[in-house]
Amino acid sequence: MSVTATRAWVTQCALSRICGKCGESLGRPIAFLGTAEEEGRNAFHQPPMHLACAQAVREGDQVLVSTSGFEFVRPNGEDVDRRPRFEPNSLLGGG
Ligand SMILES: [Zn+2]
Repeated sequence: MSVTATRAWVTQCALSRICGKCGESLGRPIAFLGTAEEEGRNAFHQPPMHLACAQAVREGDQVLVSTSGFEFVRPNGEDVDRRPRFEPNSLLGGG
């Protein structure tokens, strides 16, 4: 299973600080799933999740990172990537 994240849902998760999988409030750590490239850029596109939720939906070679905080960055006109993104800012290491 993968998390199907519409932009509206991603934004709601970010602003309400709720889990992208179960919709419950997020505590810490906060987990993000993404590709190695996303990890390299520190820019994730799936919504934040509980660590356990992220582990439950992780598939294939997805990278899982956990953090105690993140920045939510809305795209602007100069971004090649027009999707809102998450930048973990206090990484706790992989899972
Ligand atoms: Zn959850």
